[in-house]
Amino acid sequence: MTELNIHVELTESKKEKPLSDQLEFGRVFTDHMFIANYTEGEGWADHRIEPYRPLTLDPAAIVFHYGQTVFEGLKAYRSEDGTVRLFRPEQNMKRLNASSDRISMPKVNEELALEALKKLIEIDQDWIPTAEGTSLYIRPFVIATEAYLGVSPSTKYQFMIILSPVGSYYKGGIEPVKILVENDYVRAVSGGTGTAKTAGNYASGLKAQEIAGQKGYAQVLWLDGIERKYIEEVGAMNVFFKINGEVITPALNGSILEGITRKSVIELLNHWDIPVIERKVSMEEIRTAQRNGLLEEAFGTGTAAVISPIGELSWKDEKLVVNNGEIGKLSEKIYAKLTGIQTGKVEDPFGWVVEIK
Ligand SMILES: *Cc1c(COP(=O)(O)O)cnc(C)c1O
Repeated sequence: MTELNIHVELTESKKEKPLSDQLEFGRVFTDHMFIANYTEGEGWADHRIEPYRPLTLDPAAIVFHYGQTVFEGLKAYRSEDGTVRLFRPEQNMKRLNASSDRISMPKVNEELALEALKKLIEIDQDWIPTAEGTSLYIRPFVIATEAYLGVSPSTKYQFMIILSPVGSYYKGGIEPVKILVENDYVRAVSGGTGTAKTAGNYASGLKAQEIAGQKGYAQVLWLDGIERKYIEEVGAMNVFFKINGEVITPALNGSILEGITRKSVIELLNHWDIPVIERKVSMEEIRTAQRNGLLEEAFGTGTAAVISPIGELSWKDEKLVVNNGEIGKLSEKIYAKLTGIQTGKVEDPFGWVVEIK
């Protein structure tokens, strides 16, 4: 298939759009959605954009029982000149396929998936909010739909894209968060599915997140699944530390999800000639650096928040305050540059942005 033939069925009853200042994350969806169906032996077919509505699936569909499903997350921004911009969307489609491969699902055609996404956004473009910090969150995902209770890869799938206008992650300005270092539960181990954006990883993280929330922490910092020593990620974000002038992020070790924001931050730091290194980093090392006054900054990276500064790490009843609980200079500079590129306010020297009309 080289040309995308998408059947479009427009809605007859457009929904009311939420006010910009009342937007939350992921609660409201636009008027339309994209769907394609896959059947083993035939490939992807029946590409269509339809009114947003509930699905009808067999209760025995494999996705409900064995979690054979992957997802992506990216954003579209409306810039001041009215153009709509996507940030490195081809990276998301590539990762969608890498995730699918890990759990024995068929790949989508990345270029065509991107075309479908652009077409869907074009149709629902009035839903892209314009207020500072707002955007249109894009959720592509694939689900296993065959009705079969045997544990084996599905022979049928649906690829879908839904859109959700989202509010500013930082309503009252960027606030550094308190993080609980998790010593009991783990997110992933090398050889498992940590490198894939697949549902089970998130279900397995809910318990630790819930406990941390009850204790007053915004998120957990995940340690490695074998020794509980080395830092992996923070919530569903990658994590960076600035120690004595050098930026460090855990190396991709087979259990960490390779974030596109992570990759962009590394490329940006290289561009600025700021030393950045990907390597193993232990919690012990972070504590020592903090005690010696060398832990300058810590922050999470991900599409939702872009940069999320860490103001305090709680580890085994010890509270490690970072930069007096304030946002660091470098965190702020990275945040300004990335969001500036995404919204078209500053020049994009990397060619990261894809404009759609
Ligand atoms: C999506 C995700 C990230 C961040 O990836 P981005 O591409 O930067 O949004 C990091 N960790 C986990 C576990 C994730 O699911």
